[in-house]
Amino acid sequence: MATSHSENLFDVGVKAPKGGRAGTYATAVCGTCGKSEDIFARASAGATLPVEPMAKKFRTNGWKIAGKKGRHTCPACQKKPATPKAAPPPEPTPENRRAILEALEIVFCPVKGFDDGYDDERVAQEQGMPRRWVEDIREQFCGPVPPPAVDHIGEARAALKQLGDAAADMADAQAAADKARQRVIELQADVDRHLEKAGAA
Ligand SMILES: [Zn+2]
Repeated sequence: MATSHSENLFDVGVKAPKGGRAGTYATAVCGTCGKSEDIFARASAGATLPVEPMAKKFRTNGWKIAGKKGRHTCPACQKKPATPKAAPPPEPTPENRRAILEALEIVFCPVKGFDDGYDDERVAQEQGMPRRWVEDIREQFCGPVPPPAVDHIGEARAALKQLGDAAADMADAQAAADKARQRVIELQADVDRHLEKAGAA
């Protein structure tokens, strides 16, 4: 840690508060509200204060200690609720609805569905509006996205081709089997000839 001295993170000085101990104090300043707190470090003055023990004392008091002076957060500021999440988009205005409907009329057909490459998401992006608006307006005015059309002729062609390929494979297999069978017969004849010769010798 580069900030080894308390002076880097806190204001350090000798103080003699009323009703408190006189001595060296470290002061943390809240970067959010500007509030500060003094914490007693030691009775003597001078000599640098190691930072970690002081940071620990502030943390014990509820501070969030940052790596830079003036960026700390006091206990009160930490209790404030975080900024709420962005509110969900309000309902579309009539202008929004018209724009979405016009965009849908160009790229969506109730019978054929979306043009290639288009869907609710793309229309929403192109219009800079939430996808939910596009879905709602499409469902309401244009209807659901139809299921993809089935290409019966294409399917039949593909099936026929598969059948043809399978037949060709079978013919190849048959030819290979015939060849193998022929070779076995030839080898057997060879063996027989050798045996005959051996017997004759
Ligand atoms: Zn604060």
